[in-house]
Amino acid sequence: MNVQANLQLIRQKIQQACNRANRNEEDITIIGVTKYVTIERAKEAVESGITNLGENRMEGFLEKYQELSNQATWHFIGSLQSRKVKDVIHGIDYIHSLDRISLAKEINKRSDNPISCFIQVNVSGEESKHGINVEQVHNFVEDLKRYENIKIVGLMTMAPHVEEQQIIRNTFSGLRRLRDEIRDKNYDHAPCDYLSMGMSNDYTIAIEEGATHIRIGSNLVGSEK
Ligand SMILES: *Cc1c(COP(=O)(O)O)cnc(C)c1O
Repeated sequence: MNVQANLQLIRQKIQQACNRANRNEEDITIIGVTKYVTIERAKEAVESGITNLGENRMEGFLEKYQELSNQATWHFIGSLQSRKVKDVIHGIDYIHSLDRISLAKEINKRSDNPISCFIQVNVSGEESKHGINVEQVHNFVEDLKRYENIKIVGLMTMAPHVEEQQIIRNTFSGLRRLRDEIRDKNYDHAPCDYLSMGMSNDYTIAIEEGATHIRIGSNLVGSEK
């Protein structure tokens, strides 16, 4: 287990995917997901050059944030309970899991400046997946207008865990279409430039389909404490 070596390999694959899709590597942000690993491993990631870290639970976030606060940009990528918003809001730079008005309301109330949020969308329609349905996204964005501390920077999704690449690809391209539609509306509160999609097993497909933020855990830092 060597984070530096893993990162090198990931960067190579990113480069190849960018070449295939005629994209620029600089447009891809790697979020190192440290939810499975120790603080030591998270530090190793930072020392290897990872500047964006992601956690999916409040406890894990606070643990790492206490040690590494100003050394990283912080992404909250898991489903967020409204009552925990007040505990994470002052350290978090991006929330990837905005999926309901009650959560927006709480973020809006607890923050004194605009918080960058991704709307989590359930593109694949699997019942087990979090996120709002594709058909509801436009109305949701419209409803968020009234919350001055919510800034919609992009959309986020998770692809189904399947072998068939075309299904994964369709999920990502579906999110991209939706992003394009929202971006074209030129909302002040929803520039919606970004696409948070792609994890260890599917990030190269995500990049080919337009991902700007990939969330990599096990392939980068491993998956055991
Ligand atoms: C755990 C997690 C990841 C990273 O998963 P890996 O497959 O280990 O890369 C990415 N996104 C979310 C929302 C996660 O919960």
